[in-house]
Amino acid sequence: MLKKLLLVSLLLVLLTFSSLAQVRNVILCIGDGMGLPHVHLTALIEGRNLSFMNTPYVGLVKTHSYDSWVTDSAAAGTALATGFKTTNVMIGMLPDGRSVPTIFEILKQYGYRTAIVVTCRVTHATPAAFYAHVDDRNKEFEIAKQLIESETVDIVMGGGMAYFLPKDKGGKREDGLDLIELAKKKGYTVITKKSEMKELKDTEKVLALFAADHLTPASTRSGEQPMLYEMVEKVLEILSSRDEPFIIMIEGSQIDWEAHDNDIYGVWKEMVEFDKAVEAALKFALKRTDTLVLVTGDHETGGLSLSSGDYRVDVEKIRKFRATTDWFLSRFSPAKPDEFKRAVKEYYDLDITDQEVERVKNAKNQKIEFGRLLGEKVNVGWATTTHTGEPVPIFAFGPGAEQFTGYLDNTDIPRIVMKLLGYSLQYPLLKEPVPVK
Ligand SMILES: [Zn+2]
Repeated sequence: MLKKLLLVSLLLVLLTFSSLAQVRNVILCIGDGMGLPHVHLTALIEGRNLSFMNTPYVGLVKTHSYDSWVTDSAAAGTALATGFKTTNVMIGMLPDGRSVPTIFEILKQYGYRTAIVVTCRVTHATPAAFYAHVDDRNKEFEIAKQLIESETVDIVMGGGMAYFLPKDKGGKREDGLDLIELAKKKGYTVITKKSEMKELKDTEKVLALFAADHLTPASTRSGEQPMLYEMVEKVLEILSSRDEPFIIMIEGSQIDWEAHDNDIYGVWKEMVEFDKAVEAALKFALKRTDTLVLVTGDHETGGLSLSSGDYRVDVEKIRKFRATTDWFLSRFSPAKPDEFKRAVKEYYDLDITDQEVERVKNAKNQKIEFGRLLGEKVNVGWATTTHTGEPVPIFAFGPGAEQFTGYLDNTDIPRIVMKLLGYSLQYPLLKEPVPVK
């Protein structure tokens, strides 16, 4: 009997040990502004489950920041990257200005390789939260400098070249710093085109900036700007060609902006692009037993609701939408009502009245008004043009995925990740705040 008991407990210890040891790589996918309605509405429009809706473990995540029930992306990113709450607009710092290390910085010291893949400027709030320490997310020139100087991130893919180059070299920097030169000196392979990305092999460090600013929206991106999933596939290829474990942060950056615009079509297309990128990560993880994939939002944007009344949401009608309101209004003006009405019929298959054209024309913000008008036509509601304080879902796949269930806080996520990897976030705070210009 005793022998049997001993054997069982040994087995349990072994099982526990092996399940802990299994987590080697982590892929954290963040849909910026992605709440549950964004996920579910996209699934309804697409008529299928999104890839990550098939993951076995799902939880809910509180997103509030240190100073508000409604977080911004800087405080939310900081929570996800460091395990600490901070004040809105701050990045990698506690509310009192002390810097806190990010999971990227800590894991780097333990031999991990790190990567960031986004569709915004790589200096934007969410990516910045994983490597920078500034008291204001808008200090993007400083953030760019910290990215290159710190070498915290081995592979960086996204947009924002203008923040790395001085004015006389076509950039926006006024301090004369050429961060591209510095990056090359530090061993980064710098590329700007999708065709160059395809040629990359087992590269040590990559700085891929495919646009001066953000990448173009998913619905109109073409040419030498890659789609998010193409970048993810390449990063996985590069990172898996070596022995070191890795952590990747993938962001569907523009879901948030389309939701700020109250643009249903824009949210749909950005969600589909994000889902394809997550699918690439899940396919990678499915072939192995050591890779944890997490999918969550940093907060909800828009107060999106699946119905504005009458017990229905007109999914069939949304499927016929063919343009973002941004794209549409850059081509058609409500000042020319007949053409405008014809174009609305062509790109949204909707009939609108002269009064409705007039309403868009006279609005303080034509884009928002037009987005809301389209929403009314298909019974989709928007509560706000900013963020909301609603919890967001988290989907988890791979070893340790069962840890990401229940009603979590956003600061729990990096803490659980680090625990699964066998490291602690009880790491000394960086003593001096990183000097800020
Ligand atoms: Zn955000």
